[in-house]
Amino acid sequence: MCHFNGPEGKKKRDILKRDQIERALDMAGEPAEITFAGTGEFLVDENAVDYMRMCADKGHKPALLTNGQLLTPGLMDEMLSIGTRQFFISVDAIDAKTYSRVRRGGKFEKILSACAHLRERQSLYPDIRVQVSHIMFAPPQTVADEIVNFWRDKVDVLLLRAEYYDNLFFRNTFYPIPRDRCHCPLSLTLTPSGHISPCCAMTLLQHMYRFPWMPHIDTHTLDEASTLLTDMYNAKGSKFNHICQKCQWWIMFYHRPNIGSPYSRTYMF
Ligand code: SF4
Repeated sequence: MCHFNGPEGKKKRDILKRDQIERALDMAGEPAEITFAGTGEFLVDENAVDYMRMCADKGHKPALLTNGQLLTPGLMDEMLSIGTRQFFISVDAIDAKTYSRVRRGGKFEKILSACAHLRERQSLYPDIRVQVSHIMFAPPQTVADEIVNFWRDKVDVLLLRAEYYDNLFFRNTFYPIPRDRCHCPLSLTLTPSGHISPCCAMTLLQHMYRFPWMPHIDTHTLDEASTLLTDMYNAKGSKFNHICQKCQWWIMFYHRPNIGSPYSRTYMF
């Protein structure tokens, strides 16, 4: 659920309405882990915690994807009391100066404090998982070891990812992008406009462009959206398939035995 197209969004700001969020949560079916996120930052919405509470009240597990800048001990404790256990924090740096540059004035110490607080709370809630996501702005051979060693004693999971550029393309991959592209398992995201995105690439693109052909939460169930998007994905010449032809995000799902993915490495500490 990516409900907010915030201050850094290049197009008109959008925000999901409460009834749209509720409708999506009601349609999510079996108890599911629902990740709340936003362009800019989900937590700038004063209703953010209420939505996570609504999610938990409906039997789902709320998870948070955040840049971490607005996390305070009180807010984290409130989210923990609701039942939030998965905290995904996008960092992309291991020092204050780089962090401030990459995250436009962000304070790196806030991230370290948030990670330390959540890890300390594991004595009360052992199932808390603190994950940081780190884009590599240089080849993995030159930066991966240093990044892994930095986070080893501060978080539970580190996701090291290749860098995307021009929205659809990648560099600094773990090995050259294969020629034999693979299938993308579609995963629905409710976006700030109410449209339902089929994948990470489209979720990224919808922050900059309108895609009226994407199904909408006001007019489609999640099942209908899934069927429609799957059909478009498979239909050569469809507007969605046309984007797929250029897109390299499929490397997220590509795995080679004993080598893994060109896109990412996950480190569990
Ligand atoms: S190729 Fe890109 S746009 Fe197409 S489904 Fe995969 S991630 Fe989405």
